[in-house]
Amino acid sequence: MKCPNCATDNKDNAKACKKCARDLTVPPPWTPDWHWHGKVLGVIYAGLVVLYVGVSFVLRRLPEPYHIRKIPPEMTPWLKR
Ligand SMILES: [Zn+2]
Repeated sequence: MKCPNCATDNKDNAKACKKCARDLTVPPPWTPDWHWHGKVLGVIYAGLVVLYVGVSFVLRRLPEPYHIRKIPPEMTPWLKR
């Protein structure tokens, strides 16, 4: 097995690394790789796209005048421009 600290080859039953004396009985901590990043970011991005499409669909189906996204100023005369 390779030492997770210095990548030195050690015996499979070694309890500590012969070079840096790192404890080899503890499994190395999991660190995210680029494959993991790509998968997770892809899932997040796909979720955002689905959310955007869904929200756009719901907003387009709203009854008048709530479907308007840009409010004409004559509809809000109390707002000073
Ligand atoms: Zn080592």
